[in-house]
Amino acid sequence: MKKVLVIGGGARESALALKFNQSPQVDHVYVAPGNPAMTLLGVEPIGISEAEVPALILFARDHQIDLTFVGPEVPLAEGIVDAFQEANQPIFGVTKKLAQLESSKTFAKDFMHRHHLPTAASKTVHSALEAHAEATLMGLPIVLKKDGLAGGKGVIIAQDATALDDAIDQLYERHPSATVLLEQYLDGEEASVMALFNGQNRVILPLSQDHKRRFAADRGPNTGGMGAISPLPQFTANQVQSAQSLVDKTLAGMQEDGLSGQGVMYIGLIFTSDGPKILEYNMRFGDPETQVLLPQIENDFYQMVTDLSNGQQPDLTVNGRAYACFVAVNPDYPESAHKSVPVIVPNDWSIGTWLPASVNQIENGWISNSGRIFSVVSGAPTLSEAVSKAKAALESIQGVLDYRTDIGFHALKA
Ligand code: AMP
Repeated sequence: MKKVLVIGGGARESALALKFNQSPQVDHVYVAPGNPAMTLLGVEPIGISEAEVPALILFARDHQIDLTFVGPEVPLAEGIVDAFQEANQPIFGVTKKLAQLESSKTFAKDFMHRHHLPTAASKTVHSALEAHAEATLMGLPIVLKKDGLAGGKGVIIAQDATALDDAIDQLYERHPSATVLLEQYLDGEEASVMALFNGQNRVILPLSQDHKRRFAADRGPNTGGMGAISPLPQFTANQVQSAQSLVDKTLAGMQEDGLSGQGVMYIGLIFTSDGPKILEYNMRFGDPETQVLLPQIENDFYQMVTDLSNGQQPDLTVNGRAYACFVAVNPDYPESAHKSVPVIVPNDWSIGTWLPASVNQIENGWISNSGRIFSVVSGAPTLSEAVSKAKAALESIQGVLDYRTDIGFHALKA
C-alpha cells in the first residue's frame, strides 16, 4: 500500500488529499501543514509548514512516502521540488526554474511572445517615467501587472488617464524598483484549462471557471477565488478544443527552451472575438477550480500521477457530471485582519461535499482562522442542478459566514 504527502493547507489540498485517499492503492494521506478539520476527511494533517522543506524531507523519508504532491505556488517558486529531488524523494510538481512561468509575469510574457502563443500585446517597464511614456503610446484601457507572486491580486485595470496616472504613481511610490508589465486590455469571458504533464506527455482536464471578485455580478475587490464551475457549457466544442490546444503548444515551447519537467500547468485565458488569449500561467492547480475538477476524474488518481511521472501517457476518463463549488468566507474577507468566526461542521453530508480550508478545533466546536474558510462542492447531471444543490447545502450551515450567491452566472445566463 502507498503513502502520499500533500503539501499545502487549503480547500484545494483537502480535495487533493481526498482524491489520493480514494485510490485503492493508497492507505494513508498526510497533509503538510493541512488543517485540523481535515481529519474529518480521513486524512492526517501533520502541522509542518510548507516552508520547512528540510523537515518535510525528513518526514517523507521517515514515513516512507511514495509520492509528495505540491498544492500551492510559494513552495514551488522557492524550490521545494528541487530540494526533494536532490534528496531522492519522489515528488510531483515543477522545479524552481519552471515555476518562473508563474512567479515572474515578465518571464511568462517573454515565453509567450517567443513561442507565438496568443496573448495581449505588452511592454515591460522599470520606472514611473518609463511607465507613463509607454502607457500613453499603448492607449486605454490598459492593464498594469507588478512582477512577482501576488495571490491573484496583483493586477490593476486603468480605464481612464487619471486612474492610469494614479496607479503608476502609487505603485512606484510603494515599490520604487518594481518591474511592471503594461498590457493591452482584452475583452471577453475568462476560463481556465489545467493539465498534469511530464515532458510532452499530459492529461488535459475539462475547462473550469473561477469567480475572482468578492461580490455578485463580478463586483468588488479581487480575491483568491469565491467559487468555481466545471465543465463550461457556454463554450462550443471548438472553443474548448482551441483552449486545450494551448497546453501542447506550451509544452512544445518549454521543450524548445530546455525547460521540460513535470507538474501541473494552469492556463488562465480569455475568449476574445479573436479566439482564446492567454492571461497568465500558474504552475499548480487553482483553488477553487481543483475542487470542481478532481471529482470528474474517474481514473485512479495515484496511478495517473505515477504513470505520468514514469514517462507514460495516461488516458483520462471523466464521469460526465457538472460541478459547482461555493467558497464560504469570513464576512471581512478580503481585508487582511480577520476575527475568527464559529464554523458549523456538517455531519451528514457525503464525503467531498465539505472541504475545509482554515478550520480549527476549539473546546466546543470549530472556528475559522483566515479569510477563505471552507468550500462546498456538489455534482449533478446539469450545472444548474449542481449550483442549486451546493447553494442549498451551504445555506443549511451558513451561520455568520458569507459567500457569493451567483456562482455559475456566466454559464447559466446563456
Ligand atoms: P492575472 O493575474 O494576470 O491572471 O490577472 C488577474 C485578473 O486580471 C484576470 O483574471 C483578469 O480578470 C484581469 N486581467 C489580467 N490581464 C488582463 C488583460 N490583459 N485584459 C483584461 N483583463 C485582464
